[in-house]
Amino acid sequence: MVQVIEWVNPGEDEIIWRYPNEVIKWGAQLIVHEYEVAVFMRDGKIYDVLGPGRHTLTTQNLPLLYRLVGGSNSPFKATVIFVSMKQFQGRYGGETQTKELAPVKYYGVYWFKVADPVLFITEVVGGQSLYDTSDVTKFIRAYFNEGMMKHLSAYSIVDLFQNLDMVSTQVKVKLIEDFRRLGLELVDVKIEGVNTTDEWRQRLFWIMQTGNAQAVMQMDTAKQVAAELGKSEGAAMGTGMVIMPQLLQQPTQPAQPAQPYAGGGVPPAGYQQPAQPGAPAQPAGQEICPYCGKPIPPGARFCPYCGKQIHRCPNGHIVPEGAKFCPVCGAKIE
Ligand SMILES: [Zn+2]
Ligand SMILES: [Zn+2]
Repeated sequence: MVQVIEWVNPGEDEIIWRYPNEVIKWGAQLIVHEYEVAVFMRDGKIYDVLGPGRHTLTTQNLPLLYRLVGGSNSPFKATVIFVSMKQFQGRYGGETQTKELAPVKYYGVYWFKVADPVLFITEVVGGQSLYDTSDVTKFIRAYFNEGMMKHLSAYSIVDLFQNLDMVSTQVKVKLIEDFRRLGLELVDVKIEGVNTTDEWRQRLFWIMQTGNAQAVMQMDTAKQVAAELGKSEGAAMGTGMVIMPQLLQQPTQPAQPAQPYAGGGVPPAGYQQPAQPGAPAQPAGQEICPYCGKPIPPGARFCPYCGKQIHRCPNGHIVPEGAKFCPVCGAKIE
């Protein structure tokens, strides 16, 4: 009876399949379907590779194995691995930290296919001793996730939340390179979402409002000091009230035109208008959307660029989502 080596009815998610019989006879029929490659291995090494078609195994089409078995025509030992060259979809999700060590969760989807079956078998299947399709899929997902974590952690929280398109494009290029090393082609990557903690969302809000990440980090330290002095949460909020207006007065760029100087004439270098309790946080007409960073019309309830709702205190100051008190004037928010 003629030995037939064929991957019968591969499942939709199956990348590889190992022919269970390791004893191969010369004259066996090897059937390789479209989008498949059959790789002959022995002792973890790749010998011959055959593409789609119906092959009768002869000393002609398996020259390397024939030489290995010393020109003998008796049955020989080899592992036959079928590799699917179709495109696969994988989902990913994980946690990492930004440059400032802000915790970030992310998730999305990616598409890949085997580009170089010999390299793929060498690096993943043989190299990791993964002969089962679900182990291979798990390995690829973990490898993708590891790369995603590493590459995302090179960015700041502002980049991740305000420039996600740019970040996605740059991270994708790096992941494509990572995948190429495994003989895989990363066809596409979609980051469907990123998220962080409430605390970091509030910090992000103030970073966007003030354009001064360093000062926002210092403000949080001041809040923590106040808390450690045994003050109530309300008192800590009071500390914030004093600090926030000063913070908001800090110019976002050193080249910003000088504020009107009460003393007349040219104000001294580095002059900043002193904070006045209850003064508007931003000059009218220069409000910034805390979600996308674009200038919005004064008093806007929704950002015309990103469509997000702008939360305000009764005195019109922009406040973080979920805030109970206005950090600028202290007014209670209903
Ligand atoms: Zn916006
Ligand atoms: Zn207010």
